[in-house]
Amino acid sequence: MNKIKNYINGELISPLSDSYIDNYEPAAGKVYSLIPDSDERDINCAVEAAVKAFPVWSVTPAEERSKILLKIASLIQKNLDKLAIAESIDNGKPVSLAKSVDIPRAVKNFEFFATAIIHFASEAHIMEDKAINYTLRNPIGVVGAISPWNLPLYLFTWKIAPALAAGNCVIAKPSEITPMTAYLLSELCIEAGLPAGVLNIVHGYGHKVGKAISAHPDIKAITFTGGTKTGADIASIAAPMFKKLSLELGGKNPNIIFADCRFDEMLETTIRSSFSNQGEICLCGSRIFIEKTLYDRFKNDFVDRVKKLEIGDPNKPGTEQGAIVSKQHMEKILSYIELAQEEGGKILCGGNRVNMDGRCKNGWFIEPTVIEGLTHTCRTNTEEIFGPVVTIQSFDTEEEVIEKANCTEYGLASILWTENLTRAHRVSAQIKTGIVWVNCWMLRDLRTPFGGMNSSGVGREGGLEALRFFTEPRNVCVKIEDGL
Ligand code: NDP
Repeated sequence: MNKIKNYINGELISPLSDSYIDNYEPAAGKVYSLIPDSDERDINCAVEAAVKAFPVWSVTPAEERSKILLKIASLIQKNLDKLAIAESIDNGKPVSLAKSVDIPRAVKNFEFFATAIIHFASEAHIMEDKAINYTLRNPIGVVGAISPWNLPLYLFTWKIAPALAAGNCVIAKPSEITPMTAYLLSELCIEAGLPAGVLNIVHGYGHKVGKAISAHPDIKAITFTGGTKTGADIASIAAPMFKKLSLELGGKNPNIIFADCRFDEMLETTIRSSFSNQGEICLCGSRIFIEKTLYDRFKNDFVDRVKKLEIGDPNKPGTEQGAIVSKQHMEKILSYIELAQEEGGKILCGGNRVNMDGRCKNGWFIEPTVIEGLTHTCRTNTEEIFGPVVTIQSFDTEEEVIEKANCTEYGLASILWTENLTRAHRVSAQIKTGIVWVNCWMLRDLRTPFGGMNSSGVGREGGLEALRFFTEPRNVCVKIEDGL
């Protein structure tokens, strides 16, 4: 069986424990490869290699670092089909989605930060007749990157690329549930000539490898994407050590639909914003609020459209809904569907596990599910489910929907549908989320700040925010005797 290896000090090596974790293909419900069960000792070796590599990498001219990162981008592009198939097998997502979204975005992440670093400049503050202040922005040193399973290579590279571009050395851990494309990336980094120790990828469990990254004294900053509770665990270790932290956490995003919206466009996008990647995207809108006068029309057309979504083998081209990432996650989602019914919800469509035939007969599939009749404060409407489950609720006034939209502990993203420009700006300013999409969803400009408020996270990634996070600003104040 294919054994994944750690990438430490430029080499692909086995974990020191020599033990492995089963890696499942969700669509088939069976083990298809083995993942290193690494521990603190592997992290120590990785940090040692990174510390050794840092003095050279950190002073390598930005143009040189950029060239290597662009080479990695072009190798990802060259291997797009192979990586997309691997992502689909590992995660359960339709291969068409991996080909059109996940892997192209991994290419873009490297391209974006490889070029951004060439244009990155620091500030100067002039005190007319007294002094010049200028800011030095040096790489931090060795940094940690921990990423989740839902958009594996997409989010892994979103963290690694800016960290490397800024001149840091990186210790990275993909989710042990979806490690394959991170492993394939390590092969591409070797091919691209990335110097040994600059990037180290250590596979294994969060409570061992992730925890060791959080606790290692030589890792000075951590970028993490994942669940809110895990973010709090990492912060409880890293914050007292005064590490820099960027935490991108969970969400329970509202999708607010006013009656004056462009209906057809809204409906098509709402299908995507509800069920793309089986609803396993932190940015999916899982609470749909519809203005009362549009409610019945929306409900009929939406449910009709959801029922037609093609659930199937992720490797088939026409599949729109693939498998849920793990048995445990499938059970969690099903338990929320049960809870919704206990809380008085009515299932309008879906609600069940799907038993497939053929090679997917043991796979983990759930019907896309739409629920109505729940209060906005119930658990189903306030806790993150992270699956193909949405609720629909009606509203009368703008004030009412703003209050309902803001009533969870989360604040990641929101979606707003209206043709009234004034209202769009007014509501956007009052929704407490880090990202607001008006008449669109997942339209991403990588220069913009990305991240959530409240329990959805701390800090922003993307564009210059990421490069600022991965550098340490130092102010130098030079007194000028005779003025400028
Ligand atoms: P988890 O928080 O379970 O895991 C994320 C990563 O952290 C994994 O690599 C995991 O390893 C690791 N980890 C787990 N425990 C620890 C620990 N104690 N110390 C350090 N690392 C640890 O999230 P999921 O993988 O389940 O991802 C889904 C979550 O991610 C959802 O809540 C979703 O909203 C959020 N998310 C947020 C995004 C955002 O941009 N805000 C984007 C995408 C997802 P292991 O796999 O071994 O457990």
